[in-house]
Amino acid sequence: MDFIDLKTQYKAYQSEIDPLLADVIQNARFIMGPELKELELEMSAYTGVSHAIGCSSGTDALYLSLLALGVQPGDEIITTPFTFIATVEVISLVGATPVFVDISEDYNLNIDQIESKITPKTKGIIPVSLFGQVPDMDRINAIAEKHNLFVLEDAAQSFGATYKDRKSCNLTRIAATSFFPAKPLGCFGDGGMVYTSDDELAKTVRVLLNHGQTARYIHEQVGMNARLDNLQAAVLKVKLAHFEDEIEARQEVAKRYADLLSPLEVILPKIQPFTGRSVYAQYSIRVKNRDEVAELVKQQNVPVAIHYPIPVHLQKAYAELGYQKGDLPVAEKIASEIMSLPMHPFLKEKDQATIAAALKNAIEKAGGKG
Ligand SMILES: *Cc1c(COP(=O)(O)O)cnc(C)c1O
Repeated sequence: MDFIDLKTQYKAYQSEIDPLLADVIQNARFIMGPELKELELEMSAYTGVSHAIGCSSGTDALYLSLLALGVQPGDEIITTPFTFIATVEVISLVGATPVFVDISEDYNLNIDQIESKITPKTKGIIPVSLFGQVPDMDRINAIAEKHNLFVLEDAAQSFGATYKDRKSCNLTRIAATSFFPAKPLGCFGDGGMVYTSDDELAKTVRVLLNHGQTARYIHEQVGMNARLDNLQAAVLKVKLAHFEDEIEARQEVAKRYADLLSPLEVILPKIQPFTGRSVYAQYSIRVKNRDEVAELVKQQNVPVAIHYPIPVHLQKAYAELGYQKGDLPVAEKIASEIMSLPMHPFLKEKDQATIAAALKNAIEKAGGKG
């Protein structure tokens, strides 16, 4: 059993992917080809955002967004400690300071704590739509507007999710997503995308990701190479056409998990009333004696993963910020209990029954010792 079964997905779409990749290769359309242009237009139509801009990774999409927003050394950016570290790294890479708020029971940042962290140096907020569910973005946007801050959605795990009736990536001034293979929509390597309906921001991102060029060998600012490969764009074009069906399948898988697991002593994902749909980038539950339970489940040949064992404020890389254990208690508690189960659109009912049985067995054993 795979944690995320990308091999079955490839087989399902192989007859569409292989000829398109062969065509791109035979015609040597590797950089900024027509497939990239088409993908960007399709992504813009899918999300309803005016500009969808392909780039080299989710991390670069976030980094380019911060550069385009003009974030400077000394600025403060409010975000969550319960995320993949890339969210926070990009704040450091532009020389700004990450300021953490604790999280809520839906694993997204605690909106009630945002205002108490705003100082004259605060420039923006990066909410992460963790595990595929968007936080209450209207409330975050209202706080940002009141204090003249930008909001950058880290949508690396939520592409395709909806908040009320709107799509993730179309909720904030600018948003960034990732096409890392394990994300809900993944390519065959690294890839990402920036989304904004602000024409000026879009123009700046496009220039920055291609060495600050406005015309061939005319460099108006210092940029970088952060383009999305045309081969990746071709893969994404094929997968995007199947993506809505996959999201539907993910809803089914999540529903089956909820039925199978509700009799067990676990905390299931909390789906908020404002959530249209989660894309379940992870199906993460909480259990007592987590490390022991995870080990016992793995011993029964069921793969599980921990997202994330150490919140960012307690990582060595961020020791200089001076956070101590206990500073963000909800994030720390949840990090000690969280465990992700296999989740992908091709997961079979029979395998989910096996997973649930392995988990039940593990909880009983671990509980007996506790
Ligand atoms: C995966 C991820 C990223 C980074 O995306 P890459 O494409 O791997 O660079 C950023 N933020 C979150 C929340 C992620 O899950």
